[in-house]
Amino acid sequence: ITILDCIDILLIAYAIYSIYNVIRNTRAEALLKGILILMVATLASNWLGLHAVSWTLQKLIAMVAVALPVVFQPELRRALEQLGQGKMFRGGVILDVEQSNQLVDELTRTVGRLSRSRTGALLVIEREVGLNEYAETGVAVDGLVSSELLLNIFFANSPLHDGAVIIRGNRIAAAGCLLPLTEARALSSELGTRHRAAIGMSEQCDALVLVVSEETGKISVARGGHLQRDYTLDSLDAYLRSLLVKKGRPLSSYLKWGKKQ
Ligand code: ATP
Ligand code: MG
Repeated sequence: ITILDCIDILLIAYAIYSIYNVIRNTRAEALLKGILILMVATLASNWLGLHAVSWTLQKLIAMVAVALPVVFQPELRRALEQLGQGKMFRGGVILDVEQSNQLVDELTRTVGRLSRSRTGALLVIEREVGLNEYAETGVAVDGLVSSELLLNIFFANSPLHDGAVIIRGNRIAAAGCLLPLTEARALSSELGTRHRAAIGMSEQCDALVLVVSEETGKISVARGGHLQRDYTLDSLDAYLRSLLVKKGRPLSSYLKWGKKQ
């Protein structure tokens, strides 16, 4: 065994572990167990000399292998997307510190007013992964984020109040958007479709999803497939600032500095 062999084995182990991490708690996990059982059954029937059973099982495994990419198109897509989310390919709109502080101010102000008036709302803040495909399910807005505009959108019975608003940089890209619902089963029964859509969206990408409950006025935030509930305005403000306001200077400020020289 050479060092190269060790590296080889470690790489494969890491790849298998990553794949398992991606499919953990999804439909694919149960299916993978099913395939493993099929394989073990094939080996066992081979060993016992049950030729007909072994032949049938082998054909079955071949069929499943062909069907897999079709059945798991969404999961495969997500896996590839996660692969592309590496830090090398940072995308998304970059705001400077002042703009991001302003954005957080407007967002907390809006959420506070929505929560006090018990108006249901769903706000998706796009980060590095583009959300065009979800924005296209709603109505394009392309307006600067302001609490007045957001309140107008979520105002009960307004044409755009149903669905989610997608925020890109400091602009509202679209309103009335349809988000994917989570398939997680172990969720509190208090959480209806609005909260499930927030969790579902945050499972698919790195977006931050703010939810205001219509029933209770409570504020929750979904990120990375987890919903954190019962935010106060202060804790929300601090959380948003910690994630959205970049302390370092954005690239654009260096470019401006470069031009001045
Ligand atoms: P609340 O606490 O506000 O009642 P909830 O989690 O109980 O929230 P529902 O009462 O089912 O959820 O909220 C329904 C509203 O959630 C819909 O009117 C719609 O605006 C929004 N909603 C539901 N599903 C989606 C979805 N897939 N994408 C976007 N918005 C959705
Ligand atoms: Mg409800």
